[in-house]
Amino acid sequence: MDRIEQKICEIIDSKKEEIMAFGRDIFCHAELGFKETRTSGKFVEEMKKLGMDAETGLAITGVKSYLKPKGSTEGPTLAVIGEMDALPIPNHPDAWSETGASHCCGHNAQLTGVVGAAMALADPEVAAAMGGNICFMAAPAEEYVDVEYRAGLMKEGKLRYGGGKCELIRVGAFDDVDIALGHHSMPGMDFGLYNGSSNGFVNKTVTFTGRSAHAAAAPHEGVDALNAATAALVNIALQQESFRDEDTIRVHGFVSEGGTAINVIADHVTMQYSVRGKTPEAYRDASLKVDRSLKAAAMATGCGVTIETLPGYMSGVPNNHTEVLDSVLKDLTDEKYNKRFDMGPEMHMTGSDDFGDVATLMPLVHFYSGGYTGSLHNPDVRVTDEYLAYVVTAKIFALTAYRLMKDGAAAAKENIADYKPVMSKDEYIAFMESMLTTEEVAPTPLPIVGK
Ligand SMILES: [Zn+2]
Repeated sequence: MDRIEQKICEIIDSKKEEIMAFGRDIFCHAELGFKETRTSGKFVEEMKKLGMDAETGLAITGVKSYLKPKGSTEGPTLAVIGEMDALPIPNHPDAWSETGASHCCGHNAQLTGVVGAAMALADPEVAAAMGGNICFMAAPAEEYVDVEYRAGLMKEGKLRYGGGKCELIRVGAFDDVDIALGHHSMPGMDFGLYNGSSNGFVNKTVTFTGRSAHAAAAPHEGVDALNAATAALVNIALQQESFRDEDTIRVHGFVSEGGTAINVIADHVTMQYSVRGKTPEAYRDASLKVDRSLKAAAMATGCGVTIETLPGYMSGVPNNHTEVLDSVLKDLTDEKYNKRFDMGPEMHMTGSDDFGDVATLMPLVHFYSGGYTGSLHNPDVRVTDEYLAYVVTAKIFALTAYRLMKDGAAAAKENIADYKPVMSKDEYIAFMESMLTTEEVAPTPLPIVGK
């Protein structure tokens, strides 16, 4: 490590109590996506303490703070990103009673790592040793939950896409960003590269409408919406062999309203579905096949159907340049922290993450760190090593940012030059809009025989 890098580690270690207290505070005051007002307020306070301004209200609760005055520098801007949101898991012992949310995905460590990194990178000597600019970003709503609240915001025109980074991209918060640095917590390991691919997805709310009738005395007078849903499930299952193995298509969901009474033919049945795949082309194809399955089910039963499709997240794209991050992880490996697990480009995750949207537009340098036990999205998640979860995470953020931006941002520039965007921002918005559709098929019941 050079002298500046040693200084970065010394500053972070000298503030470790403060950093761990911040992480603990956010952990115990978890908030759901697009509602992270306390969390973003705490982030703004920390940025202001370091002498930085904060742009707030980006995608409702998002924040950006620039290390150097915005527009004052030549060269690339690196976004150092921490997510703010938590999960609706009220039975976690540290769930916040006011929200019923808990940090069972460890996003509090991301935000804490960004705050700890900012403490070191804002040192005047450290800042002066870097080219370009750094933007510390607090991102809302990575978890796709609380869907009804978001649907309400969408109807009010306050939100258009369901994910925080998707919205940040839409409102232009990434327009001046050239390269991104992100993190996720991972139980059972110390740290590693998070550089696999992942599935993208769309979500669907499907409503079948039929006609009620007495289910025992006169079922032939009804039009059964539950039959339409049943036919739809079979039709969707039969699409399976039309999917290529390499596209890792996942179609999964549930019947969220299945009728009202045992002796009433259901006139209203709703289903929630996700359609995922390895590439936008692949999951768009699967999404169209699901739609035709639903419409065929409506036609077969005489029901009507409304299919509301919302764009989810884009497929994750590995970065070819992991040498800077790899060098940092090697330098931080010691007797205590050496359990490394790398997810490389050969590894594919069939889940999804809105860092995929960022990686669609610009190079993303992405890492894991530990300090947690339990399984993510489960109430058994605990922070068991605060130093690793928060302080080591801050060091990885800070050292990686520094090494990307030192020497006139040479490494960042190399990564940006070698990166081929999957889409331009305009193409991204056009794709998202093409996935934001409502299709309606009117009911077509036949006349009742004998009436
Ligand atoms: Zn997460």
